[in-house]
Formats: sequence, C-alpha cells, structure tokens
Amino acid sequence: MTEITIPASLLPADGRFGCGPSKVRPEAVAALAEAAPTYLGTSHRQAGVLFEVGALRNNISELFSLPDGYEVLLGNGGSTLFWDVATFGLIRDRSQHLVFGEFSSKFFSASKTAPHLGEPSKIETEPGTHPLSQAEDGVDVYAMTHNETSTGVMMPLTRPAGVADDALVVVDATSGAGGLRVDMSEVDVYYFAPQKCLASDGGLWIACCSPRAIARIEEIAASDRWRPATLDLGIALESSRKDQTYNTPSLATIFLANQQLRWALDNGGLEFAAGRSDASSSHLYGWADAHELATPFVKVEAERSRVVGTIDFAESVDAKRLAAVLRANGILDIEPYRKLGRNQLRVAMFPAVDPADVQALTACVDHVLAALA
Ligand SMILES: *Cc1c(COP(=O)(O)O)cnc(C)c1O
Repeated sequence: MTEITIPASLLPADGRFGCGPSKVRPEAVAALAEAAPTYLGTSHRQAGVLFEVGALRNNISELFSLPDGYEVLLGNGGSTLFWDVATFGLIRDRSQHLVFGEFSSKFFSASKTAPHLGEPSKIETEPGTHPLSQAEDGVDVYAMTHNETSTGVMMPLTRPAGVADDALVVVDATSGAGGLRVDMSEVDVYYFAPQKCLASDGGLWIACCSPRAIARIEEIAASDRWRPATLDLGIALESSRKDQTYNTPSLATIFLANQQLRWALDNGGLEFAAGRSDASSSHLYGWADAHELATPFVKVEAERSRVVGTIDFAESVDAKRLAAVLRANGILDIEPYRKLGRNQLRVAMFPAVDPADVQALTACVDHVLAALA
C-alpha cells in the first residue's frame, strides 16, 4: 500500500465528519476550560449546575420555538436508553413503528420484547427510503425517526390523520434535532442526545414533551405498572422541573450543549443552524450527482438527509480504502454504517461542521480517487 498524502492546501480546517460523537467546536471546549474551576467538579444539586441545566432547558425551548405547555425533560443514558424509558413510561399498550434502518428497528425491538406491552405494529421500507404512519386501532404511540442516521434518510414529521385524540407522536430526533427544521405542534415527544447536532458529548437524553405527552407520563406514573426508577418518566418529569436529573449527569456534556445552543441562537436560531446543513448537503449531493464514480444513495431528493449524507461509489472504487486513506490524512469517521454493507461513504453535515470543510472534503476525495486510479 503506497502512501497517499493529500496536499495541506486541500485539507479541511477540521477533519471531523463523524455522525456521533461528532465535531465539538473548539470555542465550546475553550469556554468549558475557562468555566471549569468553578463548574466542573461541583455539586449537581447546587446553584451553579442547576443554572446550567435550566439554561439547557430554556435554550432548547427557544431553539425549537416550543408551543405553550411543552416541557423539556432530561435524564442519563442517551437515546438508546430512552427507548426503554418509552416502553416503561410512554407506551400505554401498543406502538406503531416506522422501520427504515438500524435505529428505528431498535426501538421496535425494545417495544416488542417488553412483556407488559401489546404486540407493536411495524411499517417497514427498504433502507434508503422511508415509510409513513397510518392510523391504526389500538395504537397509542406512533414512533417515527426524523433522520435515520444509518442510511441518511430524513422524513417529514406530521401527525397522521385519523389517530385517537390522545395518541402520541414520538420522534427519535437524535441526529436531526438542531439541524433540521421541525414544527413541534405536530409532535408530542421529540427526543435526542447531544453528541450529534448539539455538538456536545453523549450520555444524556433530552425530550421535548407536549401537554398530551405530559398527561400520558402522569397517567402511567399513577398506575401500578412496575418500572425501574432510572427508567421512570414520572421521576424524570419531577427532577427536570427542578432543573435536575435523577442521578448525577455529565456536567461537561450539559455545558457543551449549551455552548452550541447559544451559538445557534445568537446567530439566528434553528433557521441559521439548518441553513448551515442545507449549504453543506447541497454541495455534497451536487458533487455526487455530477460525479462519474459517485451517486447519492437515497434516490428521492426530498428524502436525502441534510445532516447525514450517504454516497455510493462505483464498483471500480474501493470505498473502504478511500476512507482509510482519508483517515490517514486526518479526515475522520466517514466510513458507512457498518451493517448497511455498501460501497459507501457517510458524511455528517451537522451545523457545527463548516460548509467550507465539506467542500474541502469532496476536493480531497477527488484527489485520492485520482491517486488511486
Ligand atoms: C445515534 C442515534 C441513536 C443512539 O444514540 P445514543 O445516544 O448513542 O443512544 C439513536 N437514534 C438515532 C437516530 C441516532 O442517530
């Protein structure tokens, strides 16, 4: 294997293009270092940290323009843990799942294996596409995924027609929240973790909850269903209202998420953040569309994610080798989702990623393709 060195003039200023943990802005890390002496290593039950958690809840409300009565809940464990939280504290009996990739299928499995729930329903389409929800008798949670990170497909979020008044639309927005536009009035629970568009670290789940969702949480919390305290949404609701988490959170994660939220809000809010991802993604897909050896994996343009781009390569290209050469040159984490098994590169274009760096990335890919040919 001969070494290929990409000229420094072509390289992006920052080589992090991974889907999570994803690029954390250096300015946020510097702000954390500055705040550290009176923040890191202090009690999460005292004013300093309570203030930071309160700021996180407020910043999220502001970024998403949450309608009246919506509340921001948080707890430890990330989005994967939230699936278990939902099986214990959101689903009354039956959920319907749109399954179109790895992440959406995992929430379906969590619900299917929960012994206290009825049989969930599944609407599935091929990777690279997305299904739509349909009203179904007996279903009390409609589970959607804003952005299927494993395939690079985004879907529109609308409350399906004809569903029961108290049915919940529950959206996994882990890789979309803060990078894609959303109308929260269509959604009851919009949950995510901060290591993607919020450019922080992992380990936390955050959920924007509608009054309808709060009513469901209170209904189940008052029932005799057994639930572990760490997965109890009733407890999470109480703690969150006090700007706390049930057990100790990562203080750095909360601080870094606030840095990113403040940065977005100070520059124009969700429109600014989504605009950055628009600029990055229109460049990436435009480049791939025009390229002899590359094609966007997602065929329908409107379904191509603005925050996670998946690009297939012709058989004559070894995408694994391509990613390895780029990695050796400091361009990180653009390997495809492992289980998708395609000759592909996957590029995160979260708001923290500079659109100019996505342009530099495609120039680097062109350089390496030429060198490998
Ligand atoms: C990353 C991701 C998850 C998992 O998040 P964790 O915080 O690692 O549990 C779930 N759903 C989607 C859509 C994701 O992108």
